Amino acid sequence: MQARVSVRSVQPLDARPEPPGQSGEPRPIRLMNTVRADRSGVHDHLTTTGELTAWLGGAPAAEADLVAFRSLRAALRALAALLAGDTRPIATGHDVERAVAEINRAATSASAWPQLTLSDGEPRRIITTDASAAASALAGTAAEAVDLFTGDRRTLLRACYAPHCVLYFMKDHPRREWCSPGCGNRVRAARHYRRTSATAG
Ligand SMILES: [Zn+2]
Repeated sequence: MQARVSVRSVQPLDARPEPPGQSGEPRPIRLMNTVRADRSGVHDHLTTTGELTAWLGGAPAAEADLVAFRSLRAALRALAALLAGDTRPIATGHDVERAVAEINRAATSASAWPQLTLSDGEPRRIITTDASAAASALAGTAAEAVDLFTGDRRTLLRACYAPHCVLYFMKDHPRREWCSPGCGNRVRAARHYRRTSATAG
């Protein structure tokens, strides 16, 4: 006999607004990129439940959610490092087996079901869950990572080699080399500086 699941809060997952200030990267990459760096070092932008709530686009987050998202992020970065052939210092020393187990654990941490709804007489597919918004976002991000890392698009995953950068991105354009225009500008400025100082010297 199948266990009956009581649905505490039914939330159409696909109706959530995009978190503010995020790039167009897939959600697993946006989670990876909450570790950033500049001249002064590496900065973690996911250290409080408030920061997680902001990343989730306003969904309340508990301390346990923060721990779970940080574990998933470390696992995603380990897999990304492997797939992108990342040679940056930050990408070394990962336990890939453990990362795979962590991603799978997160992917099964919340259940979601497709449901049918009628909107102006038109059938629509929505996803419902009995988990909190934060928990279902964790499972959803892990599930998207499974698709990303196993699908054709995985060959587009890149590490950004601009000075100090620790981000990942999808090379969605043949000429795209950097995670952001800002990184591209810094690389061009550094090249220009090297050329002009070589000429002057
Ligand atoms: Zn970059």
